[in-house]
Amino acid sequence: VKRLADIRLGFFDSAMSSAVAERLTLERSIKAALKAGQFELFFQPQVRLEDFRLVGAEALIRWRHPELGIIPPDKFIPVAEETGLIVPLGTWVLQSACRHLRHWSEIGLGGLRMGVNISSRQFREADLADLVAEAITETGIDPAHLDLELTESMLMADGEGTLKILRALARLGVTLSIDDFGTGYSSLAYLKRFPVNTVKIDRAFVRDLDQDEDGRVIANAIISLAHSLSMKTIAEGVESEAQAAMLARHGCDEIQGYLIERPLAADDFTAFVARYGAD
Ligand code: C2E
Ligand code: CA
Ligand code: CA
Ligand code: CA
Repeated sequence: VKRLADIRLGFFDSAMSSAVAERLTLERSIKAALKAGQFELFFQPQVRLEDFRLVGAEALIRWRHPELGIIPPDKFIPVAEETGLIVPLGTWVLQSACRHLRHWSEIGLGGLRMGVNISSRQFREADLADLVAEAITETGIDPAHLDLELTESMLMADGEGTLKILRALARLGVTLSIDDFGTGYSSLAYLKRFPVNTVKIDRAFVRDLDQDEDGRVIANAIISLAHSLSMKTIAEGVESEAQAAMLARHGCDEIQGYLIERPLAADDFTAFVARYGAD
């Protein structure tokens, strides 16, 4: 796999040097890649801390570029956001995620839940609830197995409009998570107002867990707050046994991170499940 840091230099026309031209080129490439079927979902396992049983996976997009190899999302999601391409891309992600869920249930992994990242533009601009409803109907999946990951800033944006979308989504029977919790707005009042099921504790706090007392205090506060509002907690970016043990002591419900496994291509994920075991 080639280094991708040079995506802006090497891969794109070097004669066009302005940021605008680069963006245009990347925009065109994303469009073409979507058409050519070069996007792919990887899956990162999520386990219950109590007994380390596999409960689900987060779908994470990758661009399998014919020359550059696998391109991670931070290289193209921001431009897709800026240009609005995130809307068709996000629709593809939703449909693809539901197709994978369907496949899992066909091969006896019907108990697994799938987390899908929703971008802010997709949340505000697309008719998200309709798209989700369509993907569910088309694939015949159990909506309870689909979890949509939203961010704090999305929820804070516009009170009533947001609440309407969230309620429409909740009515479909899907669950909702707040991603990267703790990194955005500090107001926690909205947690109570919105029909959100799960808080995903950002990696930054998990990393600090075995560094200092402050890290522990923050993680503990997030877990307690979530539980007092009848929400579940998942810690992200768990890399060590020590972090997992500390999270378990604080009553965190689930973990996701390199300690368990990295995000895996679809076939590697099902192989992982076969090795690891699932309900
Ligand atoms: P995220 O939603 O916070 O996803 C978690 C990121 O943390 C993933 O990066 C994952 O590979 C990484 N990670 C997981 N465990 C560990 C760990 O133990 N240690 C460390 N250091 N990192 C870990 P990834 O896959 O590169 O995705 C980056 C971001 O791109 C995601 O952050 C998400 O915001 C966005 N993204 C990914 N897929 C999609 C998608 O389908 N749609 C949208 N809108 N955004 C996506
Ligand atoms: Ca996420
Ligand atoms: Ca996250
Ligand atoms: Ca993030």
